[in-house]
Amino acid sequence: MGHKLEISFLGAAETVTGSRFLVQAGSTRILVDCGLFQGVKRLREKNWEPFPVAPSSLDAVVLTHAHVDHSGYLPALVRDGFAGDIWCTPSTAALAQILLPDTAHIQEEDARYANKRRSTKHDPALPLFTQDDAQRALERFRTVDVDRLFSPASGVEARFSPAGHILGAASAWLTDGRSSVLFSGDLGRTNDVVMRDPAPPPAADHIVVESTYGNRLHSDGDPHDLLADVVTRTARRGGIVLIPAFAVGRAQAILHVLATLRREGRIPELPTFLNSPMAIHATELFLRSSGEHRLARHEVAEMRAGVELVRTVEESIALTSRRGPMVVITASGMLTGGRVLHHLFQVAPDHRSTIVLPGFQAAGTRGESLANGARSLRVFGEDVDVNAEVVTLDSLSAHADADELLTWLRSTPSRPSAVSVVHGEASAADRLRSRIEHELGWAARVPAMGDTVVVDRR
Ligand SMILES: [Zn+2]
Repeated sequence: MGHKLEISFLGAAETVTGSRFLVQAGSTRILVDCGLFQGVKRLREKNWEPFPVAPSSLDAVVLTHAHVDHSGYLPALVRDGFAGDIWCTPSTAALAQILLPDTAHIQEEDARYANKRRSTKHDPALPLFTQDDAQRALERFRTVDVDRLFSPASGVEARFSPAGHILGAASAWLTDGRSSVLFSGDLGRTNDVVMRDPAPPPAADHIVVESTYGNRLHSDGDPHDLLADVVTRTARRGGIVLIPAFAVGRAQAILHVLATLRREGRIPELPTFLNSPMAIHATELFLRSSGEHRLARHEVAEMRAGVELVRTVEESIALTSRRGPMVVITASGMLTGGRVLHHLFQVAPDHRSTIVLPGFQAAGTRGESLANGARSLRVFGEDVDVNAEVVTLDSLSAHADADELLTWLRSTPSRPSAVSVVHGEASAADRLRSRIEHELGWAARVPAMGDTVVVDRR
């Protein structure tokens, strides 16, 4: 008798960003992930809407990993009244120390830029949140290791399990003692070049699974071979290899692959630059979290050894006028902002150069346009011609593909009563839902934004 667990989908429903799920157990309310929406304007505008439930009514946040589409709204949540704990793994907390202040900094810069362009008659544009808000959110973080039971709020117990993907990334299992729900979080690939495999899912009555690549399979080409070819032919042309990578996660995978290729003499000796302060910090973290990735200490050292770190804005500006051949790894991964935009003016029009896209490109981003063959990009109000070669390197993706998602689900010790498919564009989510129904024989649905489901026992 009594209440049943309920899940409300407040974001990442039929879209890849804005992960926010409300779990209610009687009067206890827990938010799983608290992300920013990214990509097309219609989604980004959602970041400015009031949070769908009063932040002060939430007892705790359980955070699966540090990527901002899962964590980036936390500063606003705390500013607007959330006063509970934010639970995550130690590496997620360490990465959030880098990512949240940086996200706030970008918000402040955007507001400053908008105010400069606008007539002074308008109200000043305000940042979505400030660096002070980010600091106050970080003060609420509480860490717990994977595989440890903890109680985020009264009447609810939870446990993280490793999800691969990036340092600290976890699936989150929650129970009220009667029924249970598992959130996959973002799942990494099996046999990733740097991260360990995701752990099999624990038994749960309801599984909420991501579907970023729910309708796609990664090419099975070895990323070493692909990158060796790209770097070698671009160097021969005298061009620049520009690799926009997610600063946390894929930048380190790229560095590791390049280091291996250098050691094996498979690419020419080229100046190589890591132009992202955030990626530099995230790379340091690899030394401290050896249990979570596949690299030995000497491999982490090697990945940093052949690379010049570009820290200051002045150094970054100087780099954008340097001529090839060279390799530049920079952020952001979907070309939505950051230092990569300045490199585009130099690299995109140059037919000798190559832009390598190693990660997922959300709808409405410049990265998606490039992957789809755009011959021109809009950057800082200017049209930039694209003559450079564009290469998609999806075998280096930090996300499981459709077959890997199904394999992960299948490895649960007992079938759930239902699955909710989230964190994918509508077509990807629907394709995975259909495969779960037909290949696993489980009930599955794609929730719409705002939907609530009741968790039935198996
Ligand atoms: Zn992620």
